[in-house]
Amino acid sequence: MCDTQTLAASAEGYIIRCSDCGRIQLCFGIAAVALKSDQLKRLQTHTSEAVLYGAAYSEAPGHRCISVPLNQLMILCLSWQELVALDELLCQAGAMMEVYEMLAKG
Ligand SMILES: [Zn+2]
Repeated sequence: MCDTQTLAASAEGYIIRCSDCGRIQLCFGIAAVALKSDQLKRLQTHTSEAVLYGAAYSEAPGHRCISVPLNQLMILCLSWQELVALDELLCQAGAMMEVYEMLAKG
């Protein structure tokens, strides 16, 4: 039986993780996917890099022109607004994962 922790939640989506089996679910916009923890880490890297280097896209913030790979099969096509919202969600999840790790160590 899965024991679900909420890692992040916003108006745009949420990220939950099972503390038992480690399964992570990302729900964002119209997509909901199961991810492994290394895939979530890679997504965090891709997203923060896109925010760092994609500022030119902020001139047309509603235009879906930014590709962020989720796994080998799926790529999210995001607008600048969505990218920033996803980055915030992932940062929140990263911080919560650190908190849970610290609590687990005692
Ligand atoms: Zn589980």
